[in-house]
Amino acid sequence: MSELLGVACTLLSHHGAIVERTDTTRAEVLLPPLIQTFLGLKELVTFSSESDEQAISLSLGSDWIERLEGLLGTEGRYAEVELLAESFPFAPKNPAEMVAKHIAFQNASMRLAKVEDASTLYTIAVIHASLRSRDTRHELLVAARNESTSLLHPQLSGRLQGLLDGTIPGCRWLGASTTSVAEARVDLEVILKSHAPRELRRRCEDVILHSEARLQRDLERLDDYHRSLTSEVARRFAQARIDRSVADAKQAAIDRDLQFKCNELVRTSSIEISLTLEQVIRVRAPVKRLTLDVRRRKKQRSLVLDYNPLTRHLDTLICEQCGAAQQAWFCEDETVRLLCRGCNSGEHNFGAARACN
Ligand SMILES: [Zn+2]
Repeated sequence: MSELLGVACTLLSHHGAIVERTDTTRAEVLLPPLIQTFLGLKELVTFSSESDEQAISLSLGSDWIERLEGLLGTEGRYAEVELLAESFPFAPKNPAEMVAKHIAFQNASMRLAKVEDASTLYTIAVIHASLRSRDTRHELLVAARNESTSLLHPQLSGRLQGLLDGTIPGCRWLGASTTSVAEARVDLEVILKSHAPRELRRRCEDVILHSEARLQRDLERLDDYHRSLTSEVARRFAQARIDRSVADAKQAAIDRDLQFKCNELVRTSSIEISLTLEQVIRVRAPVKRLTLDVRRRKKQRSLVLDYNPLTRHLDTLICEQCGAAQQAWFCEDETVRLLCRGCNSGEHNFGAARACN
């Protein structure tokens, strides 16, 4: 069954509906009177995760999903779960080797200074991204951030479903509350800067490439058309059918028109992106906290990152200028800031995450 149809069925069951999943893409649902009124549906309806004339088709961003979302209200938006220490006793066998394998400094030396037991709080944010161009595309992005180290932990994003459906043993739910996502106070800026642009670009590369190719084609067509108009003016002037002032005025009008149409094409081809925070899960976890001493010439700094016993991964370091996540790092001379290759070479001099993709 598709994830979205599964969520819809769970939600409707929760509100007293009787759900029968007829196959992996369809479910027949008997709705109680209040829900019929709320959704504006009759008693027996069929939902489908595919385009289906005989059923109500559910897809991300569709009108029906928005109506079902109304049933959810603020429920299911925020929850906290704890990974019990006794269930997750895992520690890296050789921390120094693990660090050396995952983090490489190109112009600085690094030493593992300390490994200690600690606990942390991760924020997993589920973000709904809508890309509007001539068509609209909807995507769900999931990003996890370690609040103690301020670093991302992408491997935890991949475990979200397991946490939610209880297939990861050794977790204790601290309560799903009706806290709204606004009250969850998620520092979205770091997530959006370092995660969302890259992830969106990866998922929607086809939309972006298609849009760019179409724009290029339309611009070329427009250019050809205006060239033909310009040739016509030149031809009529050469044949002395119009004088210089008329030819100049016509040419100026053609140029203005070309500029206007180009601007319009670029405007209508641009992709408008909106991001909405849909859900926040906070995960309390026991971690192994690693402190690294990093030395660049005479300057030194400490870097702290955690090893998560559920994902068995270290936090992911991010470029302190543009937010890119990599494994090969450079350090700035004076500040010993971590820089990606692009920022270090000056290519990403305006500090935008976009440039690092
Ligand atoms: Zn960078």
